[in-house]
Amino acid sequence: MKILASVYEEVVKRNPGEPEFHQAVKEVLESLEPVAEKHPEYVKAGIFERIVEPERQIMFRVPWVDDNGKVHVNRGFRVQFNSAIGPYKGGIRFHPSVNLGIIKFLGFEQIFKNSLTTLPMGGGKGGSDFDPKGKSDMEIMRFCQSFMFELARHIGPDTDVPAGDIGVGGREIGYMYGMYKKIRNDFTGVLTGKGIPYGGSLARTEATGYGLCYFMDEALKAKGKSFEGKTVVISGSGNVAIYATKKATELGAKVVALSDSNGYVYDKDGIKLETVQLIKEVQRGRISEYVKHHPTAIYKDGCKGIWTIPCDIALPCATQNELDGNDAAILVKNGCFAVGEGANMPSTPEAVDVFLKNKIIYGPAKAANAGGVATSGLEMTQNSMRLAWSFEEVDAKLKDIMKSIYKNASEAAAEYGDPDNLVMGANIAGFKKVAAAMYAQGVAY
Ligand code: NDP
Repeated sequence: MKILASVYEEVVKRNPGEPEFHQAVKEVLESLEPVAEKHPEYVKAGIFERIVEPERQIMFRVPWVDDNGKVHVNRGFRVQFNSAIGPYKGGIRFHPSVNLGIIKFLGFEQIFKNSLTTLPMGGGKGGSDFDPKGKSDMEIMRFCQSFMFELARHIGPDTDVPAGDIGVGGREIGYMYGMYKKIRNDFTGVLTGKGIPYGGSLARTEATGYGLCYFMDEALKAKGKSFEGKTVVISGSGNVAIYATKKATELGAKVVALSDSNGYVYDKDGIKLETVQLIKEVQRGRISEYVKHHPTAIYKDGCKGIWTIPCDIALPCATQNELDGNDAAILVKNGCFAVGEGANMPSTPEAVDVFLKNKIIYGPAKAANAGGVATSGLEMTQNSMRLAWSFEEVDAKLKDIMKSIYKNASEAAAEYGDPDNLVMGANIAGFKKVAAAMYAQGVAY
């Protein structure tokens, strides 16, 4: 980095103790260096300095009472990062690891991802360090209500439209939506990922996992390959992992492993998704229980070991930095030729280097997992129009969007002289529209 090195240095200085945010900013600025060279007007207008600083960061106390009457206090966050091309849009994460830096990295990534979808959505993200694991339904409800009691004053269908993420699925969205409606006395599409009876979109639940496979299918086809007959390893066993497993299997692949934060299962005959859905979606249990249903499968403690399983295609779908340089080297050594990121920033910079150096077909998160937010955008459209599309209509639109994201990212990569580098291509393609909008709107933000 030459022109943008000082922007990055300033980010590190002004945001101490936020390594994930620094990592996300560095990757994007490195990709944007040639854009800065080509567009001195953006440098002069301070676009790069402005885009790395959130428009607004909200932190709040979330008190709630457990089933024994004990009071707990968690911390809530909403980072409204960039509204140049539309209302802030991005998920809410409930996980004990959540802190301001993690929400900022996710919000920053969301700016470019949302732009790539071609829909009018700005970037934002929120969450809490609340741990939903082991909590009763009533505890989850009380927490969600308390969280929304504060968040409601900062969001709105034309201001900021949150959705789910780790630890936030249909149940949590329902509890938060109910509270929002009670406070505001408004029935609007203020959250996405809603249940179908109250304004949700068909195919939203499936969208991130399906979209990941549609994107990777395009990337594979461009190299004369496909999912057909391939062995696939997928990390995680939540929303994204489950629907990536379903679509990869439909496209002819055999998914042989899934994980959670405790360990992974390997089923050489192919993972039986009904069992995973029963354990994870109905019983809210652990992936280790899979072997009770299928004794020929193997369970191992420790989620990292999943990358030692030989595969053709790896789809990390759990969390940030779950796949490091060493894991990447093992994947490559075992013959893996494609990696698609369902999770946000699951590969460390060292792992990304290994993929690029070895010419792995590599779909970076902000392009490959944009199907979820794209379908949230479609949910917003349906809410505004007060109508509901069929599953097939939404799925067809999702597929088209993923195809166009692949096309735009690969064309931008080619335009800037590194045709196979979809990291660079996605960053540049996502940036272009946001930068043009910020430039046109003057130094308002
Ligand atoms: P879920 O909460 O449904 O599932 C998360 C899965 O990842 C669980 O299996 C969980 O295991 C595992 N996991 C979480 N944290 C860790 C960790 N620290 N180490 C190992 N495993 C972990 O979340 P989603 O499937 O919705 O999200 C997964 C990823 O996809 C996240 O990075 C998210 O930001 C990203 N994403 C999600 C979208 C969506 O539409 N839902 C859209 C775009 C991106 P355990 O149960 O043990 O915690």
